[in-house]
Formats: sequence, structure tokens, C-alpha cells
Amino acid sequence: MIMVDTHTHLLDSRFNNDRENVIQRAYSNGILSFFEIACDINCWDQALDFSKRENVFISLGIHPTNIFNVNQSDYNKLQTLIRDNDKCIAVGEIGLDYHYHTSLFDKKNQKENFIKQLEIALKYNKRIIIHCRDAYDDMIYLLKEQKNIPKGIIHCFLGNLEESKFFTEAGFLLGINGLVTLQNSKILKQIILKTNLDKIVIETDCPYLTPKKYKNQRNEPSYMIETIKEVAIIKNISISKVAKITTKNALDFLK
Ligand SMILES: [Zn+2]
Repeated sequence: MIMVDTHTHLLDSRFNNDRENVIQRAYSNGILSFFEIACDINCWDQALDFSKRENVFISLGIHPTNIFNVNQSDYNKLQTLIRDNDKCIAVGEIGLDYHYHTSLFDKKNQKENFIKQLEIALKYNKRIIIHCRDAYDDMIYLLKEQKNIPKGIIHCFLGNLEESKFFTEAGFLLGINGLVTLQNSKILKQIILKTNLDKIVIETDCPYLTPKKYKNQRNEPSYMIETIKEVAIIKNISISKVAKITTKNALDFLK
């Protein structure tokens, strides 16, 4: 079985002591490729370096919770890096996060920063990776307002069925991760059941969102199989079929 982890933060400091072991373990467990997400300005250079490795692709952007001291020169830098690097496949993760940021000012600021980065993606023909937390209404409203939207992944999708349909019909893939293995994931399971597997990619979001089996541990790409197993149960198909189709989706995303 070959798998692609479409959302990693392997450059996170929690991997500093054993990053190479984690990566080797992923390879020996069938992970062919990683999409490393660098969504803090300070991580971009390290991510570019990381992308020199075979089968490592990166996404650069500014996370909605990291936008507060950003200025135009940061955006100029982002544009240049995205334009000049073939292994940078997407802008992201970008989006809206109202979980801790609820003031009108914060929301407006996040929306503006999201649109700015979406436009960079369009300009350089890249995809986007969306982070959306407690903000699906506004995200959908914002996307509907745009003349063009890039294709992309709605990472860690946790909306409702209607919202999932909006995204898949707009050309997005739903990013599904270890959260689906947890007890309280009923709505997500329903959505997976009703969504064509062609519209789903698997991700870990490591070191975050550890599947149930490894509860309280740091997450890593080799645990991705737990999410695939759960999707196979929900859809009542084989694990290898889930892996095959979602891997194809991830590889098509690179085209
Ligand atoms: Zn992430």
C-alpha cells in the first residue's frame, strides 16, 4: 500500500530530536510522499530546504492565527518564494479561525489576509490549503464572492453535510485525519459516508490530531493508516481501496 500524507508539520520543534527516524518510519510504513505545511513566516526558509528532498512537497502561507504582525514585505516574500519554487504546490494553510479570535476587527483582518493569499495562489497557478475553524459560514460567503477560486484542500474538515457539498462542488478535497477515529466524530462519519471517495484526501496534521490508538502521544505520518482503516469501516470497503483512491487524489493534486 502506498499513501500520501497531505498535511504534515514535520518541521515542528516536537520532531527536533528524532525527525529522521519519524521520516524513515513513515517510509517503511508505506508513506510515499508528504505535503509539508509551513504557515508561519519564520518556517518558510526551513521548508524550502526540506522540499529539496525527493517526494517532499510544501505549502507556504500565513495561518490566520499568525497574521497579526504581517506586513507587505512578507507578502512580497511569499509571492517570490511561491513563484520560484516548483515544489511549492500550494498557498496554505490559510483561512479563518474564529476559535480564539472573535472580535470584528480580527475577523475582518483574517478575511483580508485570506483573500490576499488566495489571489497569490491564483496569480501563480497554485492550489490552496484552507484552515477553517468555527468560521464555515463566513468562509463559504467569502468564497462565493470571488470571481475565481483555486482548487484546494479544506484541511481538517469539520463542517456539516451541506457545507461539505459546497466545498466539493467548488473543487475542493476534504482533508480527513485522526479526528475521525474519535468517539465524538458522528457528523464527520456521516459526511464521509455520503461523500465520494474521489473528493477525500488523508492527512495527519502531525504532530497534532493523533488517532485514538495512539492517544496522548505525538502524532506522526506512520499513524495515518488508522484514519484509512476508519474510512474503510465507514464506507464498508477494503483498506487497500481507500488507500489507492485517496493516494491517487493526492497525486492528482500535484498536477
Ligand atoms: Zn496544519
